[in-house]
Amino acid sequence: MSSKKHVHKYHKLQDGLWHCALSDCTHFMPHNVAYNMRGKNSLCWDCNEKFPLDEEAMENDEPICYKCRIGIGETDLKDLNKMIEKQGEKAAGRK
Ligand SMILES: [Zn+2]
Ligand SMILES: [Zn+2]
Repeated sequence: MSSKKHVHKYHKLQDGLWHCALSDCTHFMPHNVAYNMRGKNSLCWDCNEKFPLDEEAMENDEPICYKCRIGIGETDLKDLNKMIEKQGEKAAGRK
């Protein structure tokens, strides 16, 4: 029984390598496979959801997923829905 299976939460450290940031995990990507990082799943540093790494995410030492990059996280979506609901109520009340 070794370490639990999990999606690694990658971040780039000063050694220039991608390490897993989760406690109890010593996993990191050696240089010779770093080019393979693209498409690997990591946890988002913003929403903590699993997402496939892409070049844009990897420009960040603490990569975040596409949804967070365009500014639509889970909570934002909920807020947006609430806003739309409120506006709908307002519109309905005006009748
Ligand atoms: Zn890990
Ligand atoms: Zn995210």
